[in-house]
Amino acid sequence: MKKIIDKLYNENNLSDKELLTLLNNLNEENKNYLFEKSYMTRMKSYGNTVFLRGLIEVSNFCKKDCMYCGIRNSNKNANRYRLTEEELINCCIRGYSLGYRTFVMQGGEDAYFTDEILCRVIRTIKGKFEDCAITLSLGERSRDSYKTLYDAGADRYLLRHETATREIYESVHPNMSFENRRQCLNDLKEIGYQTGAGFLIGLPNQTNEDFVKDLRFIKELKPEMVGIGPFIPQKDTPMGHLENGNVEIVLVMLSIVRLLLPEVLLPATTALGTLDPEGREKGFRVGANVIMPNLSPFENRKKYSLYDGKKFVQDESAEELKNIIKKIDSVGFNAVMNRGDNIIWKRK
Ligand code: SAH
Ligand code: SF4
Repeated sequence: MKKIIDKLYNENNLSDKELLTLLNNLNEENKNYLFEKSYMTRMKSYGNTVFLRGLIEVSNFCKKDCMYCGIRNSNKNANRYRLTEEELINCCIRGYSLGYRTFVMQGGEDAYFTDEILCRVIRTIKGKFEDCAITLSLGERSRDSYKTLYDAGADRYLLRHETATREIYESVHPNMSFENRRQCLNDLKEIGYQTGAGFLIGLPNQTNEDFVKDLRFIKELKPEMVGIGPFIPQKDTPMGHLENGNVEIVLVMLSIVRLLLPEVLLPATTALGTLDPEGREKGFRVGANVIMPNLSPFENRKKYSLYDGKKFVQDESAEELKNIIKKIDSVGFNAVMNRGDNIIWKRK
């Protein structure tokens, strides 16, 4: 197994067959060896830096019905809200004064957020703070829309592919197109965004063969960012009775993605931190180098419940932020708040 891991470390690639062999034969010893190699790779690319991004949950209205998600359209128990343009801009102003230089605007697919409104917000923020980056994560839109938002100044877009196995994708995404999701990712890349793909760990019937497909998809697309998180049940969804995704598998996937794409920006996700109080720190040790503390207005946070158990700490306060930074630094990493672009990306 060490030979395969060395090959992955040296060549940043493996065949599908080798990936499967690796996943099927991981024991404590070779898993630790894998983690060592992915740690070395993150040190070569970004050193011990962990980038902080301010996450703003702009709306929990969503027209889609992903079976795992607590803000899916059919969930009648979701208490819906959306931020006004003014609230959104104020979040960024507050975030900027705390030191954030990336704002991640994430939300359900809410028709209220037209290109016109989003462009106005993007231009206002870029006009005030030219040294900040704007990341959008607003689901599937048309290529034209993505292009318009990019031209207005958006820098990055997060859209997980969720799973690269068609059957699983279709089973958890009613009335959604597997092809369209992938097309969106190709469009985002072509337009010039720093593009984030990624997948969920713990979907029904997911096996190592499926993870090999996810890893191959990522190796081929070469996204600048990859979000990998455990599925966590939300009680008002059709998947509310299922088990959590496995934290160890998340760590293995993070480490393999770090080795496949040495320069990738890799968040230790909120979901990982939710399942394991030390989850994020474990993530940093295997190659993750981003975290996204919540900047949303406090009163809305509970309503943005993608899954149960999400913590609603008031971490937009200067005090909380200091604690986050202290915690990252105390485990041997260096929390920084600059734009933190992917080092091999250039704006078109
Ligand atoms: N609507 C946008 C962005 C918000 S959802 C989109 O879907 O892209 C952001 C991410 O949350 C999704 O990509 C999904 O992978 C994750 N998510 C949703 N429900 C989840 C759950 N129950 N457990 C873990 N992650 C979940
Ligand atoms: Fe909507 Fe995103 Fe949730 Fe799917 S995952 S229901 S697109 S918010």
